[in-house]
Amino acid sequence: MALIVQKYGGTSVGSAERIRNVARRVADTRNAGNDVVVVVSAMGQGTDDLMALAADVTANPYPREMDMLLTAGERISMALCAMALQDQGIPAMSLTGSQAGILTTSVHGSAEIIDIRADRVRAGLDEGKVVIVAGFQGVDPVAKEVTTLGRGGSDATAVALAAAMQADVCEIYTDVDGVFTADPRVVPGAVKLDDISFEEMLELAGAGAGVLMARSVEFGRRYGIPIHVRSSFHAAEGTWVKEETMEEAIVRGVAHDSSEAKVTVHGVPDQPGVAANLFEPLAEADVNVDMIVQNVSIEGVTDISFTVPKASADRAKEIADKVAREVGAGGVDIDTNIAKVSLVGAGMKSELGIASRMFRILSDHEINIEMISTSPIRISCVVRGEDVEAAVRSLHEGFRPASSPKEE
Ligand code: ASP
Ligand code: MG
Repeated sequence: MALIVQKYGGTSVGSAERIRNVARRVADTRNAGNDVVVVVSAMGQGTDDLMALAADVTANPYPREMDMLLTAGERISMALCAMALQDQGIPAMSLTGSQAGILTTSVHGSAEIIDIRADRVRAGLDEGKVVIVAGFQGVDPVAKEVTTLGRGGSDATAVALAAAMQADVCEIYTDVDGVFTADPRVVPGAVKLDDISFEEMLELAGAGAGVLMARSVEFGRRYGIPIHVRSSFHAAEGTWVKEETMEEAIVRGVAHDSSEAKVTVHGVPDQPGVAANLFEPLAEADVNVDMIVQNVSIEGVTDISFTVPKASADRAKEIADKVAREVGAGGVDIDTNIAKVSLVGAGMKSELGIASRMFRILSDHEINIEMISTSPIRISCVVRGEDVEAAVRSLHEGFRPASSPKEE
């Protein structure tokens, strides 16, 4: 008998009928002789709707109250799922994140899981029940306050719970068939990957592939929990995210991300401490800086550019303006019309010339590169926003990432 954690995303629990579907699938898994823990997201766009409602009430909701509000979304779906299972004759019980022992840091809106005391989940399983846990939420054990884990956080709940309970697998049910070589809405010829390594998936998630929250992949890697990303609408296998994959294609995926803005500080004096003075207050203000590029200095001054989420752009500009005044820099520019395109593949470690091939393909399509950053298994370029889809398509065409030779 296996212990399986199944996570269902917002679309999968988006209506009463879909919730009954989910219950049937959970029931089948349990009737096959498995213990099942279910993690649910808020129904459909439930979280967005609650956020919009808060924005209608006030421009500055307190983070604590925002978490009180948003955690209600998952609470609705967990109770309805339990009812649907009970209706099918399956004993079931729902638990909030706090009741399930999901202990987090105290940062409202982006708390991190620090420990899981899953006693009540285990007790429920021992009583023969399916246990349904509200995703995306936990409790700060010191202040005893309810927290949320950041957008997409139910994935993190599911994989962390699977790790804490030493589950055999964590299944992430979603509205797509698995992890694709590129966004199929942009590249019609994108193919589903049969498997991908944790390392590659982490890079893809960080590069904008929205299918899994990056933090959940980190949990999977750290605790060796295989993650099976699959569709909740049919029974076909999806993509297995795991330690080792069958082969190391040079490029496994082309990801893109249009959610960032570029900040440039001009005419920065080239001397020790300036970068620290700039990035310390950004970190303190919880601005998540992604790429950083500093140019060679000419006559003692240089330019520093970096990217941040568009949602933090105003805050980043304010901070950069202040630092620029303090260090005597020339000025600060903000550019929201950028996008990032990335190639990811573990095979890059042992293959030379991937970057130059990437740059050549972009230049053949007259796409200008504004920033470049790399990891051992990723190359990312910032381009104009309007060029990003052409960039993704041409790179997919040029590198032909695929899950197995049969699909090449
Ligand atoms: N409902 C939350 C969100 O929309 C968490 C999740 O779906 O994973 O971000
Ligand atoms: Mg969601």
